[in-house]
Amino acid sequence: MAPPPRDAARFRQILDLLRSSHPDVAPSLDHGSPWELLVATVLSAQCSDAQVNRVTPALFARYPDPAALAAADPARVAECIRSIGLFRTKGRNLVAAADRIVREHGGRVPPDRAALEALPGVGRKTASVVLAQGFGIPAFPVDTHVGRVCHRLGFAPSAAPREVERRVTPLVAPDRWNEAHLLLIRHGRACCSARRPRCAACPVARLCPWPGQAGPRP
Ligand code: SF4
Repeated sequence: MAPPPRDAARFRQILDLLRSSHPDVAPSLDHGSPWELLVATVLSAQCSDAQVNRVTPALFARYPDPAALAAADPARVAECIRSIGLFRTKGRNLVAAADRIVREHGGRVPPDRAALEALPGVGRKTASVVLAQGFGIPAFPVDTHVGRVCHRLGFAPSAAPREVERRVTPLVAPDRWNEAHLLLIRHGRACCSARRPRCAACPVARLCPWPGQAGPRP
């Protein structure tokens, strides 16, 4: 079912305003290939991107491709990412994912959602990040910031990722999904924080129905 036209127009207005506020928006996980992006995104679960960017240079130098990581001892990989939350589980998952990429995909990260989501430690959001930012395939990753902001802005009845994705993707063309994802994350971090949104300083407050704002009701 097509979304109400006013929702689509309001969403595009919000993206335009956020782009004016954050003209430099870009992916914040350092990477040089789909493989490195996959690894960094798996590591970023419940962990800041800055923390991930501190450990990945040494990790990528030691294990430069899936074949190298597939042959690694998970305990040594875990040691390499020790400052990251859930490092043992993530280390195990990365080795298992690399092994599967070597055995089933010729050592290359598959540009395919189902194949990505079949990898250990890879869920829908990680697959969407890899598709959108690693391969340029339209996808709209919904993390905690995107979910919260879209819910507060009245585009989804909850912050549940699948619901947010289902409601928001029809609002703009697929070639804008990744930019929308990046802008909403940046806004969630910079202004619309979980505990204390800075509504008085918000560039999209007049378009926001969150209680106390002047914008339209959803
Ligand atoms: S007005 Fe407040 S709740 Fe709405 S998007 Fe801005 S910071 Fe978030």
